[in-house]
Amino acid sequence: MKKRWKEQGRKNKFSAKSVEEFQEWKESVRQILKELIGLDRMESCSLNPQCLERVEIEDGIIREKILIQVEPEVYMPVFVLIPPKKGEEKLSCFLAPCGHMGAGKYSVAGVRDIPAVADKIELFHYDYGLKMAKLGYVALCPDARGFGERREKALQGAEEDEFINSTCFHLAHMAEPLGMTLAGMNTWDLMRLLDYVEERGEWDINTIGCVGFSGGGMQALWLSALDDRVKKIIISGYFYGIEDSLLKLNGNCSCNYVPHLWEHVDMGDLGALLAPRPLMIQSGREDHLNGEKGLKNVEEQLLVVKDAYNLFGMEDRIFHDVWDGGHCFHQEHIEGFLMR
Ligand SMILES: [Zn+2]
Repeated sequence: MKKRWKEQGRKNKFSAKSVEEFQEWKESVRQILKELIGLDRMESCSLNPQCLERVEIEDGIIREKILIQVEPEVYMPVFVLIPPKKGEEKLSCFLAPCGHMGAGKYSVAGVRDIPAVADKIELFHYDYGLKMAKLGYVALCPDARGFGERREKALQGAEEDEFINSTCFHLAHMAEPLGMTLAGMNTWDLMRLLDYVEERGEWDINTIGCVGFSGGGMQALWLSALDDRVKKIIISGYFYGIEDSLLKLNGNCSCNYVPHLWEHVDMGDLGALLAPRPLMIQSGREDHLNGEKGLKNVEEQLLVVKDAYNLFGMEDRIFHDVWDGGHCFHQEHIEGFLMR
């Protein structure tokens, strides 16, 4: 497989030498990626938004639980954390997709009164949605397919290990033979969430960001790579070369494995599609998911991304936040990054 990757991988890598070449490459590679992840197979419909719950949690933050229809008869529950408004300006938003082993939106929205969720928030600093709301942003924290309230039958029990877990494996088995993928379905659902923000009209639609850790970082990467409505991106604990982190480390969750993807791009090429939007990549020096080369496997991919930003003269819009810890979200420099 390593030999095959070397010989046949990355056919559509980023190699543009001008902004014009970049735009051409971006358009053509986006089309390929949309087909690979099955985005063109998704069905649109009206969002039919419903608000199921509205409570005040802390610091004056309102938590709404909304339900939107993302495909006909497919519904996505979302916690929307709305901070108090300061002044006349519309609030900015952050989409905050979830990673694994945190019960989907529950850990991201900081629902600590569930003990299993509180444990995962301690372990991974998983409550980045709530943290964004505390910084004054509206944080939209959805359940990805297979997570939280969207688990498939195999893991729908109320016991902790099932509640915390996700059914990516089962979904991938059903979806892929039908030409669909988890990457595609979750990217689609996040695009529908962007539609919802636009439709609701209460918040600034020109400054929407996306933040995600681990599997949430993967979703943030895919969404931002394919949708320019995302204007700033924070990807934590998910950015590294495919060969070391997904081919040699081949026991990761099914949602990482898109049929035929590696024949076309490496992760740095996906990252290049974010240029020139403000981008923070967070890496833990000790994160085992970086693979055998450690941080070098991240830096190599970032060089590709930097080449793309350089075409715009905007390399300074990339901020690589490295800390000495392992696989967890890192809050320290978020505010500074957003003020830049
Ligand atoms: Zn997964």
